Amino acid sequence: MKRVYLDNNATTPCDPRVVEAMLPYFTEKFGNAASRSHPYGWEAEEAVDYAREQIATLIHADPKEIIFTSGATESDNLALKGVFDMYRKKGNHIITATTEHKAVLDTCKHLAEQGAEITYLKVNDKGLIDLAELEAAIKPTTILVSIMWANNETGVIQPVKEIGEICAKKGILFMSDATQAVGKIDVNPREMGIHLMAFTAHKMYGPKGVGALYVSRKNPRVKVTAQMDGGGHERGMRSGTLNVTGIVGFGKAAELARKEMDQDMARISKLRDRLETTLKNKLEEVYINGDPAHRMPHVTNMSFKHVEGEGLMMTFNQRMALSSGSACTSASLEPSYVLVALGLGDDLAHSSLRFSLGRFTTDEDIDIAIQSIEEGVNHMRSLSPIWEMYKEGVDLSQVTWSPH
Ligand SMILES: *Cc1c(COP(=O)(O)O)cnc(C)c1O
Repeated sequence: MKRVYLDNNATTPCDPRVVEAMLPYFTEKFGNAASRSHPYGWEAEEAVDYAREQIATLIHADPKEIIFTSGATESDNLALKGVFDMYRKKGNHIITATTEHKAVLDTCKHLAEQGAEITYLKVNDKGLIDLAELEAAIKPTTILVSIMWANNETGVIQPVKEIGEICAKKGILFMSDATQAVGKIDVNPREMGIHLMAFTAHKMYGPKGVGALYVSRKNPRVKVTAQMDGGGHERGMRSGTLNVTGIVGFGKAAELARKEMDQDMARISKLRDRLETTLKNKLEEVYINGDPAHRMPHVTNMSFKHVEGEGLMMTFNQRMALSSGSACTSASLEPSYVLVALGLGDDLAHSSLRFSLGRFTTDEDIDIAIQSIEEGVNHMRSLSPIWEMYKEGVDLSQVTWSPH
């Protein structure tokens, strides 16, 4: 049976053209890019330089502003910890938001234990931060604002340009996790006033285990303290033998994204809109989570009221891959903290599914998705006493549930 993959925000498949570009660098072109004394090294270094240029071109940056890492998690860590270590004498205050990726939130938690003061901005019911609140949170000790470009669960796009302007006005560094935006929409950190920006290859049809941190080199020239000590690679900011093969793939993925993103996104957003509209027409009590006007074109996060998302996924998980708004912790299912931050009750958060489409999503995939969701939701609701009460007009918020 054909399987449908609508979980591209978790990872994307490698584009076959990316794999093809990488292959020689496993075998005949296996050199270490730091070997300066022979052609094996030169060849590898040349390949890395070329990829650095491909990636810089995609984000309108200088190749020297690209620091290679193992992925966006490491880039987030390097940006936050590296700035905190480097600028600690100036202050210890960092501003971020409650809906950031765990790679940012957990790093902030770690820095709080090291003496950082962290302000977590709330978001409104559409998932957006409040610019006035951001401005009010800035104090003389603020050294960094870290707000993501696009949210991984909802696709919501933050007002990065306005945030950049506020940071510039106050002379504060602005870091953005742009993992879900780079390669899908036009991303230009300099134009947005972003000084540090994290992204990763495997969310844009490149390989896993390779990412980058953009670090502004002029107006201002930013430095981060290395978190990995060793050979002084990557302008002293990230030591370790470069993942040449991965970097070559990342570069190819960036080139393909630059050339194809407009046509890809025009096609994908139509599929996304068809999925959304059809499900809203076919089913009752369907909600879209996150601001539809400020959202990535390939994502929709939908709640199917009175249907438990994890259970719903089980009705089709052999043939379709999605993510739910419930996170499996050790013992229980927790509602997604991102959806809770938007003000969704636990019930609506648990009834949500994230559809993230991609370059290889077809019309037929969307047909299958619509059919699977429609059948699954109708089936689950037909078995649900709560749905029956709702249909009978019972006001569920007024019902007192006895324990037994
Ligand atoms: C996937 C993701 C990450 C982590 O990237 P890795 O390369 O897997 O470490 C960080 N931030 C966001 C927003 C993501 O979607």
